[in-house]
Amino acid sequence: MAALIRDSSTVKVGDGEVTVRGWIQDTRNLGGISFIALRDRYGVIQLTLPKKKIEPELFKTLTTISRESVVAVTGEVKESNQTELGLEIIPSAVEVYSEASTPLPMGVIDKVNVEMDTRLNNRFMDLRKPEIRAIFELKSLMVRLIVEAMEENGFTQVYTPKIVGSGAEGGATLFQIEYFGKKAYLAQSPQLYKQMLMSTGLDRVFELGPAFRAEKSNTNRHVTEFISFDGEFTWINDQEDVMHMIETVIDYVLKGLKERGAKQLEILGKEINIQPTPYPILKYEECLKIVNDAGLDLKDGDDLGTEGEKIIGEYMAEKGKDLYFIAEYPEAEKPFYIMEKDGTPYSYSFDLDYKGQEISSGGQREHRFDRLVARIEKIGLNPDDFTFYTDAFKYGMPPHGGWGIGIDRLLTKMLDLPNVREGILFPRDMQRLLP
Ligand code: ATP
Repeated sequence: MAALIRDSSTVKVGDGEVTVRGWIQDTRNLGGISFIALRDRYGVIQLTLPKKKIEPELFKTLTTISRESVVAVTGEVKESNQTELGLEIIPSAVEVYSEASTPLPMGVIDKVNVEMDTRLNNRFMDLRKPEIRAIFELKSLMVRLIVEAMEENGFTQVYTPKIVGSGAEGGATLFQIEYFGKKAYLAQSPQLYKQMLMSTGLDRVFELGPAFRAEKSNTNRHVTEFISFDGEFTWINDQEDVMHMIETVIDYVLKGLKERGAKQLEILGKEINIQPTPYPILKYEECLKIVNDAGLDLKDGDDLGTEGEKIIGEYMAEKGKDLYFIAEYPEAEKPFYIMEKDGTPYSYSFDLDYKGQEISSGGQREHRFDRLVARIEKIGLNPDDFTFYTDAFKYGMPPHGGWGIGIDRLLTKMLDLPNVREGILFPRDMQRLLP
């Protein structure tokens, strides 16, 4: 009986004749006998070809076909104590679906270190490695867990436009596009739209979608397109309500990944550390002191910067904390929509950092129309360009707050990957537009 095998592990001794399909991973020709490793998504199965027992044409095809060719092989399942699965297949027929060209642009199982650029240029090949695929299986699970956690907390999933008429996060990183003779931009974040929804009664919303930033710096944490997980909700008392919501969600995600992603984590040789909630909150002013004590020379009002974030990361790691909030940033450093802390140069905004890197920023928003317009002006923008947004604040807007998390960065930090690009299938940056 020929069986269509989707999962190598479902092939059992006693199955008789089966058909398995996959990629020819490796061939070892030892004269009188040849061994082929056939790989599919689930693993590798051994084809054993004793020369004398295999029809010559079939033997030739299977032992000379190039590595990574895609085939269907029919054969008898036999017990074997030489293989991991405890079985082997003795082929009786082969169908070649696609013969791989040689040489391969990079190996799948070779133990040589391939440059990240080569890997990304040949991502289709890179993804044939189980440990690379595992990253994206975990990312898929992460998104599912986020949706579960948000629904459990009463949030509605929304979709806001990605082609927009004005930016929310500053002009420097806006991608401009031509829109039927008008200027338009790719959305840097769903910020203004999710806030507008706060005036509607859809008072808890979240979005998972692409965000675009024309980042001119080439770092291991910036790309020009990333997936942003945004949340926004009303009736908050202060920004700590927002922090608690984020940590509730992250805690759910970390626990879920540890439990439901155990197989992929094992393939990657990684463990997820679950840090008990609540996560510590450091004030910006406190952080300034820590980084300056460590040798930096930052003034009140300066951005902590990559170096500062790293120092805080090391400081918190010594206290056994991977995840912590840095709260009350200088208002001048933050976008117009955040709420100022009156009587101080600070704001009700925060970042969530993970192992020395910002993964999220959030805070309480300015919901008072006059104050919002004043902030837009203060930052040097023209309120007339934002009436589509500020109108929603004119006719009754509840107090609200929210956050944006780059899920690519979250994944990268969770799995201790050295570069955010490792957590993106086809990353985009200043140099990379293909594949
Ligand atoms: P950074 O200071 O690291 O450039 P940011 O302050 O510009 O980040 P926000 O505007 O606060 O970032 O965006 C919220 C989150 O979105 C960030 O914490 C990060 O997780 C993610 N993010 C922002 N820009 C990028 C980017 N270029 N590449 C990947 N993720 C990003």
